[in-house]
Amino acid sequence: MLSRIIKIAWRSVGVVTFSSAFCLAQNPAPTLPPVLDVHVHAMDESFPSPGGICPNTAKFLASDPDTKEAPFGWSPEECTPRLYASAKGQYIKDVVAEMERLNVTAVVFGDPKSVQKWRDAAPDRVIPGTSFSDGVGPGQRVPLDELRKDFTTGGFKVMGEIGLQYEGISPSDPSVDAYFALAEQLDIPVAIHMGTGGSGRANVASPKFRGSMGNPLLLEELLARHPKLRVQVMHAGYPMMDNMLTLLQANSHVYVDVAGLIWSYPIKEVNRYIQRLVEAGFEDRVMFGTDQLEWPKLMAYSISIIQNADYLTPEEKRDVLYNNAARFLRLPPAPTR
Ligand SMILES: [Zn+2]
Repeated sequence: MLSRIIKIAWRSVGVVTFSSAFCLAQNPAPTLPPVLDVHVHAMDESFPSPGGICPNTAKFLASDPDTKEAPFGWSPEECTPRLYASAKGQYIKDVVAEMERLNVTAVVFGDPKSVQKWRDAAPDRVIPGTSFSDGVGPGQRVPLDELRKDFTTGGFKVMGEIGLQYEGISPSDPSVDAYFALAEQLDIPVAIHMGTGGSGRANVASPKFRGSMGNPLLLEELLARHPKLRVQVMHAGYPMMDNMLTLLQANSHVYVDVAGLIWSYPIKEVNRYIQRLVEAGFEDRVMFGTDQLEWPKLMAYSISIIQNADYLTPEEKRDVLYNNAARFLRLPPAPTR
């Protein structure tokens, strides 16, 4: 759910010609263990990204309302590697090549037409997801019957990304309950944006966004109304750890993903947050995700954060990178070698 902010950001720096810096040779032997990325967006273009970006920047900078304020607060930094956007027309191809190279299958969210392009590009590696927001305008909804068709005959498997927080609406709001009732009835898991947002500048770029509407405990009423609903708390409710743990201990149908969070906050903080989730006893609910929407190499970069986590055992890394999501999505377990 960072795409809107990023679009604004690139627009604000003007159109810049850009050639892809990444045309690396693919690994010849696809022997890597499988990875499930439960949080990818069905964009079909990168936006011009002059000079690339640094992930895990150390600060969110203050801004002065009397100046022209950037739409995100990430501090400008030097870093290696930088992440670069794709050349025009190459984004889907570049990301799919990375998915092949890294043996990634991804849940790809978007409107049905956008997701179809990804299904066509990588039919064996895309799990399609769609939701009830129609465009980015607040309150614009897909008709219930249309969404029902997407899940009953259109092959969609997950309802998401549900971005009510960007509208300042609670996930338990009665106005959207019929959609969650549909998901429960059809046994479709739902993926709800909770916690992060605005990249330090929601006040500038997303004025309807409310941090308070990302409180994980706002899911309690929804879960009580729909006791069989399976919920993916996107971005793990960051930074509301205590409330996230409270919800996890109170409801065993709730999982979290670490997408977005994993690359857009300071790295020590990211690792502390994931470590706390695991050490509090919820290792089997933490799912890997990227929030992939701009930079093809983000997937490899984000996987490396889990692979390099010294607080996770090799088995726990596999659980986060694949097994937990496979269980949540009811996919077959990873083949043992
Ligand atoms: Zn999101």
